[in-house]
Amino acid sequence: MADYKWIDHTYDVVVVGAGGSGLRAALGASQAGLKTACITKVFPTRSHTVAAQGGISASLGNMGEDDWRWHMYDTVKGSDWLGDQDAIEYLCRQAPAAVYELEHWGVPFSRTEDGKIYQRAFGGMTRNFGEGPVQRTCAAADRTGHAILHTLYGQSVRHETEFFIEYFALDLIMEDGVCRGITAWKLDDGTLHRFRAQTVVLATGGYGRAYFSATSAHTCTGDGNAMVLRAGLPLQDMEFVQFHPTGIYGAGCLITEGARGEGGYLTNSEGERFMERYAPSAKDLASRDVVSRSMTMEIREGRGVGPNKDHIHLHLDHLDPAVLHERLPGISESARVFSGVDVTKAPIPVLPTVHYNMGGIPTNYHGEVLTKVGDNADTVVPGLMAVGEAACVSVHGANRLGSNSLIDLVVFGRAAGLRLGETVTPGASQPEFKPEEGQISLDRLDKYRHASGGTPTAKLRLQMQRGMQNNCAVFRTGEVLNEGVEAMREVYKGMADIGVSDRSMVWNTDLMETLELDNLLCQAAVTVNGAVNREESRGAHAREDFPDRNDETWMKHTLAWCDDKGDVKIDYRPVHDYTMSKDIEYIVPKARVY
Ligand SMILES: Cc1cc2nc3c(=O)[nH]c(=O)nc-3n(C[C@H](O)[C@H](O)[C@H](O)COP(=O)(O)OP(=O)(O)OC[C@H]3O[C@@H](n4cnc5c(N)ncnc54)[C@H](O)[C@@H]3O)c2cc1C
Repeated sequence: MADYKWIDHTYDVVVVGAGGSGLRAALGASQAGLKTACITKVFPTRSHTVAAQGGISASLGNMGEDDWRWHMYDTVKGSDWLGDQDAIEYLCRQAPAAVYELEHWGVPFSRTEDGKIYQRAFGGMTRNFGEGPVQRTCAAADRTGHAILHTLYGQSVRHETEFFIEYFALDLIMEDGVCRGITAWKLDDGTLHRFRAQTVVLATGGYGRAYFSATSAHTCTGDGNAMVLRAGLPLQDMEFVQFHPTGIYGAGCLITEGARGEGGYLTNSEGERFMERYAPSAKDLASRDVVSRSMTMEIREGRGVGPNKDHIHLHLDHLDPAVLHERLPGISESARVFSGVDVTKAPIPVLPTVHYNMGGIPTNYHGEVLTKVGDNADTVVPGLMAVGEAACVSVHGANRLGSNSLIDLVVFGRAAGLRLGETVTPGASQPEFKPEEGQISLDRLDKYRHASGGTPTAKLRLQMQRGMQNNCAVFRTGEVLNEGVEAMREVYKGMADIGVSDRSMVWNTDLMETLELDNLLCQAAVTVNGAVNREESRGAHAREDFPDRNDETWMKHTLAWCDDKGDVKIDYRPVHDYTMSKDIEYIVPKARVY
């Protein structure tokens, strides 16, 4: 093996990830007087949070009466009773304060006539326990994530968080079940680093890129989730993946539901408006999961469009060009840039597209990572926390409501900061790293750096992505999912023949993408195995062969471990169907009542 050398660093807290959740956690730790490093593979303001448009939910009541209990009711119901209700209570109670904090730090929210934060309506958000829609989603035009991310970055710099930008975190350093730090590769000069910390916070985002079509950035490869699996710890509820019906084929960029709201419709290879068959009254405006499933059925039955018959057409070409120009200018531009289509003349190629990962690293509502030891599924892993889309706290349960992710980032990022303030002592001495610590990361890096097989990384990645898209998407049966399990086994076998052509350590994107593929693959394995195992339909997990929700057997979280051959072990964790405060217990009855 080449002669690799470590450069060592010591911090009280190391946060991996500089999206909304990582920045909020780092900011909280810095405010608590802790020496804090934030490590990120992309520049902070390029994290996927920047792409969030719609907004951030909080029961401010600026546009009509609202109450955090109503928000909680909607979120429990939206989660299809798989969310942990203590965490959901924490989220909804803290949400208004978290939004006002963002406002005071400088997020330029849109305003009402009388100067309050503007709020818009979003799906599933209701007043008075489901009575009717409520405007709960706070927005900074259609750039809410962008505004939040820039504000949080500025505040973190102000509070002297130390940033390590374009450092690619490789693995956790674990010692006797305790997390002691992380290893990282500095992309622009090829140096290798070990960061020692009293606590590591993983804020590495989702893993949408395990699929062929995802609305998330190419960097969303769930690296932190994979580090957790490699450390022998479980991930939770990974079978729950949220899809949006209309991502642009190939690129994955989102085409808003508003396009169908304005009169757009979907057709198959026979030019048929097939939604009329699946949902005779709502047609193209049926709910997201119904439209996504119908599109997938058409493709599976050979009526997809294009040379591979693997996507669907979205027509806007029958609409008045003036209407398109006025109401859907962004969509028209995206279609032109990403699929070369002039929407006034031709249909847009679209595909149901991964939008959000409900599953992730199990945590309690302080952000502390949990594992199962004996019968205790709430055992805290010392020295390790997780926040944001990487974490499964679990407030979204089986399905996330729109605008509930951005609030999750800041509420639990803040909670993690508060917990760090309580549990970490500024400047406390930490044991020196032993020379062999981090060796596992070096072995893995070196193996792929010198991999000389015949299969390029991009080819295997496509094989994995197509396998997940075809066999673990919105159309799920035992048979289709078992094919998916086999497909992932094949990709695992293929990894033995992978070839990396660039051997350098400086800006070696070939090597980085190979490490990312390795990270994605173990998450794909736990996702598809979890989906085969769960024999019911709940939230985003809809099984044709088990169409009903089965609370008797399945109102429990999946915990999944994965070994280096892709073999998955499954166990369970009870859902917290109790609240933090006794006085509101009666408001959110147990699932069986409904
Ligand atoms: C197109 C789109 C629109 C959305 N709109 C909304 C919306 O309107 N409202 C809403 O509530 N939600 C929305 N969501 C969901 C929400 O934006 C995301 O769930 C959320 O932003 C994720 O934030 P995060 O902090 O967990 O991670 P991210 O913002 O994804 O950041 C991950 C961070 O981890 C770092 N990282 C990852 N791996 C490594 C590594 N190996 N080494 C070092 N650093 C690493 C990255 O550099 C990055 O800084 C949307 C999502 C998408 C994709």
